[in-house]
Amino acid sequence: MSMEKKKNQWLLDRRTFLKATGAGIAGVAMGTFPFESFTLDEAMAAAAKGGETVMPTFCGMCGPAANCGIYAFTKNGRFTKVAGMKESSVNNGSLCPKGHAAPQWVYSPERLKYPLKRVGEKGEGKFQKITWNEAIEIIADTLKRQKEKYGPESLGTLSPARRTYSEYVYRFLIAHGSPNYGHSGICAMQRSFGLHYTVGAWPIPVDYGKSDVILIWGRQPIYSGPAMGDARAIVNAKGRGAKIIAIKPTVEPDVGLADMWVPVRPGTDTALALAMLNVVVNENLIDNEFVEKWCYGYDQLKDHVQKYPPTWAEKITGIPSEQITEIARIYAMAKRAGIDFGNGVEHTPSSNDVIRAVGILIAITGHLDRPGGNFLGPPISKMPRPKSVHLRERYTQEWVDKLVYPEFPKPFQPFVEGTSSAYYGLFDSVLTEKPYPIRSIIAPGSQSIVSTRGSKRVVEALKKLEFYVVVDVTRTADMDYADIVIPTATPYEIDHPFECGGNWIMARNRVIQPLGDYKSIFEFLCDLGVKMGYGSDFWNGSMVDSMNDQLKPFGINIDDLRKYPTGIKYEMVPIQYEKYETVFKRKSSQLSGAPFLPQGKVAIYNTSFKEAGFNPLPEWKEPPESITGTPELTKKYPLILSDYHTSSVYTASWQRNVPYLREILPYPMLHIHPDTASERGIKNGDWVRVESPYGWMKVKAEIYPGTRPDTVMILHGWWQGCKELGFEDYPLLDGGANVNVMYSVDPEKAFDPIVTAMASQTLVQVTKA
Ligand code: SF4
Repeated sequence: MSMEKKKNQWLLDRRTFLKATGAGIAGVAMGTFPFESFTLDEAMAAAAKGGETVMPTFCGMCGPAANCGIYAFTKNGRFTKVAGMKESSVNNGSLCPKGHAAPQWVYSPERLKYPLKRVGEKGEGKFQKITWNEAIEIIADTLKRQKEKYGPESLGTLSPARRTYSEYVYRFLIAHGSPNYGHSGICAMQRSFGLHYTVGAWPIPVDYGKSDVILIWGRQPIYSGPAMGDARAIVNAKGRGAKIIAIKPTVEPDVGLADMWVPVRPGTDTALALAMLNVVVNENLIDNEFVEKWCYGYDQLKDHVQKYPPTWAEKITGIPSEQITEIARIYAMAKRAGIDFGNGVEHTPSSNDVIRAVGILIAITGHLDRPGGNFLGPPISKMPRPKSVHLRERYTQEWVDKLVYPEFPKPFQPFVEGTSSAYYGLFDSVLTEKPYPIRSIIAPGSQSIVSTRGSKRVVEALKKLEFYVVVDVTRTADMDYADIVIPTATPYEIDHPFECGGNWIMARNRVIQPLGDYKSIFEFLCDLGVKMGYGSDFWNGSMVDSMNDQLKPFGINIDDLRKYPTGIKYEMVPIQYEKYETVFKRKSSQLSGAPFLPQGKVAIYNTSFKEAGFNPLPEWKEPPESITGTPELTKKYPLILSDYHTSSVYTASWQRNVPYLREILPYPMLHIHPDTASERGIKNGDWVRVESPYGWMKVKAEIYPGTRPDTVMILHGWWQGCKELGFEDYPLLDGGANVNVMYSVDPEKAFDPIVTAMASQTLVQVTKA
């Protein structure tokens, strides 16, 4: 079939796909297609009518662990469609476009069907087909040899974000003897760290049902998390008359519901938060009783924030000082107000400081764990927690000391997920060999060249790295540098793990048989564990035994759980507010078990950070390049560039190969203000060159009035083509659409000194390509 014909075929299918929404693009804009959703009985009736079979299970198209419940339909052994599960307490029947597009992902020509061994030079992409057992044997032999010669810490793993298999990866590393779980600083752990060490808990979700004022700050609540979860909460809050203030550089769907849009310059949220603290402190808009009883270091804060008045922040943030004062007053003076803040604020060299500043703001204004404010921890249910597969009880100080590039300072390790090195730091060690080089990296579900800043340096490291194992479902951006490629099953081809969250536990059920010589990532880790001689730690390779072990607190096994096709729901515990007495005393994850909050109070003045050699109070630090920090650069690079990570149709850097999804968002679009574009003779849809001091991209311009005139923004994760639609891959480095080539990786300027978050702001020029 010619490419043109193929394209037309997909376009026809796409029309059907969009027609099914009943709303077309409007449905896309809300992030959800009103396709079918069923109860179990309805799903079975629909399947019988269409001569299909149906299987209740979970969606597997995003993470970390959104876990929307689905009914998966098959006809003659082929996975045909997905419907939302009404019984699911996660998504209540709603699904996003990704969920519905799953069959195209499963049958993509990009699927890896059998293990591969590199036969050409690194980067050449020449591989030879090998069997699963041969692949496991090669990896085990290499790791055993390196463990013997260089120590077990010479192995690292990559994790751009938490996944359902994350604890299995930890288990493997611990059985092997390495602390180097490479965790990306673009994940939520940075927020988790700052908040645990400021207010003693994370997450601290907004009590949406009772808020009068909600600040949505650097978060994309419509497309983040389970389909329609937060969208419903916002729409309902708006319906009750709550005032919504959206703080973000560009208009996203939540701004459409907002009473006020605060278009802060990317990377300057810390300055905004500090100025809001200045207003709140100087106008005494605080909850004096709470501050007196439950906060430590308010007097130091009072002096400290004098250097951050709104007039100072106006120059940095681009927000008029009057507006900064206004939002500070609206928030502080509201009886019930919450701050829903997200990933967007934490990709800066002052990442930890903005988290702390916002945490302090919530606390001193009396909005912490009060009705309509921010909960201290999410509402909980009476459901037991599965037994962890993590082996954290084996951690020792010696273990922590071996970290190659600690994601968080060693005195604070292990943090809640376990010990971790910075994702980027693993590659850095390969090049610098300091304090020692990582020799092998196992990369499950990670595409290092497009998943972290500094892509050019990552490629250099991949060339030098001794042994690289890519583990994934489809071809990845970094696969050409792999020594061994392990294909894995999609979640629709396996019957594990069970999933549980909130008040709901359910077995995962297999929809179709695997399409190639592969297993799941869980089985890969178990098989490798057994081959390495760690069989007793890996249930001797049995996933059934693994699940039964984890289910012990429930008093059932996996066969019992499968008897409940739509899972088991537990009662919610009635919400309790003001849990200060218990939460503020909680032990930290550190080996010593010292509390997160040494004084048993909100740590405004943070003695733990001070003792470790860091600033006890939040401060402002400019991004590596910015209008106020490096004005000399603005002649050549007058615009700010940043990227956002949440999309209605793609998960991170995956799924551009799925035709239904690619048709919705076919090109990497740079949001550019109409005035900024017309000054450059740029029209909507033009290809443009975006150049920073570090690299350049060729992407399409989308004239977008809902962005700051001094700022351009783009979705990250672009590299992959889509064969069915005739889209080729973009270059991975300069000249492609990989935004990670654009940013500084200067060790002095680009990283947060405590949490190793990396900057995602720089200065650029945009010209017609
Ligand atoms: S949010 Fe979308 S992709 Fe993620 S689990 Fe739900 S339906 Fe699947």
